Amino acid sequence: MSKALLKTDNLQNFIDGEWVEKHESAPVINPANGKTIVDVPLSDEKDVSKAVEAAGKAQKEWALVPAPQRAEVLFKAGQMMKERKERLSQLLTMENGKVLEEARGEVQEGIDMAFYMAGEGRRLFGHTTPAELPNKFSMSQRAPVGVVGIITPWNFPIAIATWKSFPAIVAGNAVIWKPATETPIMAYELAKILEEAGLPKGIMNVVNGRGSAVGDAMVHHDDIRVISFTGSNETGRNIASECGKQLKKVSLEMGGKNAITVMDDADLNLAVEGIIWSAYGTSGQRCTAASRVIVHEDVKEKVEERLLVEIEKLAIGDGLDESNKVGPIINKAGLEKIEKYIQIGKEEGAKLMAGGYVLDDDKYAGGHYYAPTLFTDCTADMRISQEEIFGPVISLIPVKSFEEAIDVNNGVSFGLSSSIFTTDANRVFQAQRDLDTGIVYVNAGTTGAEIHLPFGGTKGTGNGHRDSGVQALDVFTEWKAVYIDYSGKLQRAQIDTE
Ligand code: NAP
Repeated sequence: MSKALLKTDNLQNFIDGEWVEKHESAPVINPANGKTIVDVPLSDEKDVSKAVEAAGKAQKEWALVPAPQRAEVLFKAGQMMKERKERLSQLLTMENGKVLEEARGEVQEGIDMAFYMAGEGRRLFGHTTPAELPNKFSMSQRAPVGVVGIITPWNFPIAIATWKSFPAIVAGNAVIWKPATETPIMAYELAKILEEAGLPKGIMNVVNGRGSAVGDAMVHHDDIRVISFTGSNETGRNIASECGKQLKKVSLEMGGKNAITVMDDADLNLAVEGIIWSAYGTSGQRCTAASRVIVHEDVKEKVEERLLVEIEKLAIGDGLDESNKVGPIINKAGLEKIEKYIQIGKEEGAKLMAGGYVLDDDKYAGGHYYAPTLFTDCTADMRISQEEIFGPVISLIPVKSFEEAIDVNNGVSFGLSSSIFTTDANRVFQAQRDLDTGIVYVNAGTTGAEIHLPFGGTKGTGNGHRDSGVQALDVFTEWKAVYIDYSGKLQRAQIDTE
């Protein structure tokens, strides 16, 4: 199936509009069955330099193309992604493991982002404002930064890339993209689409390879003026400190320890449905996945009972089989990390009520599968309630009041997404004000962000920037203030206004 869909055994880099072979490569493994799908190039610093040089030249011309014309390419790309949605979704499931239904949702996010950012070609608004002095005009406008670097993780291989590259492109930049080594197929497919959509050569460059080689070279390259990174906290912090030394703009989207709060007045069926979808969808490997459930003590038992019933119903297996609702874990290291935390949870005294083991029957041969897991009677300070596990594991924390729920929600070092289930209108408004996360849901789970709203988090989740939404443009543009004096004399601003 992979050959029929991909029509190649080896992916190539895409540099200066050319598809470039590399001698060194690594296999891309389907996490559902352990089979190699294709090989991905392992590039080095020289490949990054070639791409940056080409991008630098191309960007100068691209910046002069009127933004509505730049946007035309994104409209075409969005249309092509729509036409290829099923193929892209199947390939995404194969390289990442998420079930097909979710893969289709992710590809749709990319399509939505193409059309949304194409619309920005006719906006890219700045401001005109009154000037202090007579016969003087003033405005602010966005200018492209130049060559920008994007580094993306394996868990949303196409959506996150579109959140970053489409605003960069429409704003007049050239992009160097390093996809995660586990999931380079979406990068190959998206670059092909942009090429066919008419993007001039050198504006999108895909340089595959390890983070420690290609990513590091991008971070250190003087001519890459922005790094937009999504991934783990540890990698992000290292990138930020290096960018800080160079005064390079850096946008970071990192981990989460997201919670769903269930109040005593909640619609419990709805809440349980939201918990199951947010915690076990994508096997808990979403940055917005719910890994904590904060429950009012009066409904704790009911919530636990209903969760156990729903966990039992979850069909786990290869995401290409549409009867499965939960797919595999990305790789062995991911599985080992989950196992480590299960052990920690047990030692901390949390009560293991479901799961807690690797699925290794014949049905799962070759793949990496973990049973959906529920720990109850957790305290807010346990490591399993504080640290990102990135697997299908819930820590359920009972609380006595709304105020305590808010404190527990906010008492972690991350701040990406949070959710509350309640039917009390006053609590709804208090919660949306007091939950200290970049994304807040009421009567919905912690996942399901829409692309025209800002995506990102507070505290250890990021450094104040946002992906997607119109706010994404701030990462890839510089604000320029322009003053045009048509008085015919030298006016000295504050001195002449005294
Ligand atoms: P990761 O290990 O940090 O990798 C992310 C990307 O960084 C990959 O492309 C990786 O390349 C690259 N990289 C690794 N070392 C690097 C270095 N020294 N310099 C430059 N680049 C380097 O993270 P992950 O495990 O793939 O992704 C999961 C994490 O992402 C989770 O923590 C999750 O919460 C977070 N995430 C956050 C968001 C958000 O928006 N907040 C969204 C999705 C995921 P290689 O993989 O090729 O080595």
